[in-house]
Amino acid sequence: METKFIFITGGVVSSLGKGLGSAALGALLQARGYSVRLCKLDPYLNIDPGTMSPFQHGEVYVTDDGAETDLDLGHYERFTGRPASQMDNITTGRIYQNVLNKERRGEYLGATVQVVPHITNEIKDFIAEKDGTADFVMCEIGGTVGDIESLPFLEAIRQYGNEVGVKRALFLHVTLLPYIPAAGELKTKPTQHSVKELMSVGIRPRMLLCRSDRPIEEEELNKIALFCNIEESKVIPALDAKSIYDVPLTYHKEGLDTEVLDYFNIDVEGGLDLTAWHDVSKAIHEPEGEVTIGVVGKYTNLADSYKSLNEALAHGGIANNVKVHIKFIEASIFDEGDDAAIVKELDGVDGILVPGAFGTRGAEGKIKAVKFARERKIPYFGICFGLQMAVLEAARHLAGIKDATSSEFENEGTHLVGLMTEWVKGNETEARDSSTDLGGTMRLGAYPASLEKGSKIADIYGTESIEERHRHRYEVNINYKDKLEEAGLYFSGLSPDGKLPEICERRDHPWFVAGQYHPELKSKPFDPHPLFVSFVEAAIKQSRLV
Ligand code: GLN
Repeated sequence: METKFIFITGGVVSSLGKGLGSAALGALLQARGYSVRLCKLDPYLNIDPGTMSPFQHGEVYVTDDGAETDLDLGHYERFTGRPASQMDNITTGRIYQNVLNKERRGEYLGATVQVVPHITNEIKDFIAEKDGTADFVMCEIGGTVGDIESLPFLEAIRQYGNEVGVKRALFLHVTLLPYIPAAGELKTKPTQHSVKELMSVGIRPRMLLCRSDRPIEEEELNKIALFCNIEESKVIPALDAKSIYDVPLTYHKEGLDTEVLDYFNIDVEGGLDLTAWHDVSKAIHEPEGEVTIGVVGKYTNLADSYKSLNEALAHGGIANNVKVHIKFIEASIFDEGDDAAIVKELDGVDGILVPGAFGTRGAEGKIKAVKFARERKIPYFGICFGLQMAVLEAARHLAGIKDATSSEFENEGTHLVGLMTEWVKGNETEARDSSTDLGGTMRLGAYPASLEKGSKIADIYGTESIEERHRHRYEVNINYKDKLEEAGLYFSGLSPDGKLPEICERRDHPWFVAGQYHPELKSKPFDPHPLFVSFVEAAIKQSRLV
């Protein structure tokens, strides 16, 4: 089939769930047997979100090929199973960087370089590269229609839509119908205005996805269709769902996928297999038990900072038929606090997880949380920074290296965790020093690891060689391996050359595993990551003990 393009824009407000809506539509088209590819175009000036604080932009999602991307790519992967890549996310910053590099190389042959056509052409090239790679290529434009920053993107998709023609390009606009309690009504005016805004830049949306917190009357939908010049059946209500994994099913009920196919004149009679989504939804809504995991982190007041982690824990719950409650605990309250503070927060949780983090704040608190989990034999799962803190805990309290620390925190002390200056990627050696740029220079993307035969970790994965995604600048110094192992912390997974510790575990503990990588990035509702499945299983056992 000739590739069809679906351009998704957002109106009225940000945080509409465009990414989720796009991912759900992708999943529905897949369930009908089509191949889909989703990409995100972000109008901000950062080259990628890698240098942004999680408080600003939520989690930074990392792909196999080492791109630091928008968290929507995580939704795309979780819903479609298709691994995202560097070529699935672009920002204004990257577009300008490419154009300016070409200008310096003289590639514009003396032309005056301008937003139109040079920036818009660069955006169009990013889209055109995907032609032929899937039946449906879906391009989500970040931000809200009406923002100054989105204009070049809207202009580019307008032009691209004209070039491939209306038969191959659908403009789908996501809007919000706010409820005004005093009037007791859902309001359609903001939607009308945002469609008008799109029309003013030459884009005529042919479908609307209307977000609302309550059912929308037929009359209102028809009114929107009339005022926005859209076919009635193509104004789709998109109500809040109890779980994000209900979204494909609920949007399907409202006709999202059938109307998309109808727009492209594709026969809708073909098979549709939603079994996987029904199974996931059932597991979420009819759990047989529940567990509570304490996540001791530092970006805890913005749930989006731990997006993939939250999802992976939910997936572990789905696999074990339990509901996983996440109790976020701000690690910095333990930094200075005494044991009573820790007991108050962590007593009664069924598992403790220390996730990825950067910087000093909260580090001492996390080390205390590791100690608590180790001594009380509560399941402990360390991710990236969580492994580094587990190492410092063992070094200080069990191996007698009282001043064990990381060079990320201070110059003084014994650096068990230090800046990675050299490592092997494929056949090449990558090198860094402390003066290297911060952006895009971490150990990023998928790297293989070899697991020790007979170890807990090899048992959990059911294999001795794995590949997981990384995003870190520091690593445990392998020279301390023997000393740490004497203290009971075993390095059961190493990089294939044996130089980089990847996984450690304790054998004197029911479940104590930490990895230098981010397993949460690869977990999917219908294919939960084995580490999360096993951790939640251990938490269930723990919950029966107390
Ligand atoms: N700050 C640590 C490092 O750079 C850990 C990073 C992380 O947890 N992703 O190595």
